[in-house]
This record gives sequence, structure tokens and C-alpha cells, in this order.
Amino acid sequence: MKEITKWGRQAYETKDGKKKTIHSRVGEKKYGYDKIPKDFVIHHIDGNPDNNQYYNLILLHRKDHRRVHGTRSLIIKSVKPSEEK
Ligand SMILES: [Zn+2]
Repeated sequence: MKEITKWGRQAYETKDGKKKTIHSRVGEKKYGYDKIPKDFVIHHIDGNPDNNQYYNLILLHRKDHRRVHGTRSLIIKSVKPSEEK
């Protein structure tokens, strides 16, 4: 069943009763993970949380993710990969 989270993102409930967002699930598929690695997040490149297409999702370290959102311009290219694991 679909529902909207407080962030305005579509989410659903997994078999074990956990909430999961659609974009996380799509991102996991895109990158071949069963689960997004710890400290990583799936980001919407165009800033539209409803656009869960493969091309719009990118796996980012949460530190980089914060920086991307901090710029307000959402320019991925300007963010250097984090060296910290
Ligand atoms: Zn984001």
C-alpha cells in the first residue's frame, strides 16, 4: 500500500513491517543492493521527490548529500566524493 511520508515521498511497508521509500527501493535496484549501504542515501537529481526514474536517482554518501542540498542549486558535479567511509 502506498502512503506519503512526512517528507512528501512515497513509501510502502516491507514484509517485516518497516517503512521504505520508493526511491530507496528503486535506487537499490539500480545499484544492485538489497539494502542501501549504511551512511549512503539515494538522492533525486532533479529535486523532484516524485521522479523515481533510474536516471534521476544517485547514490550519495550522506555527507555529500548534505552538501548537495546545502548549495541550493543541486549541482551534483560540484560535489567531490567524500574520502571518508
Ligand atoms: Zn537529496
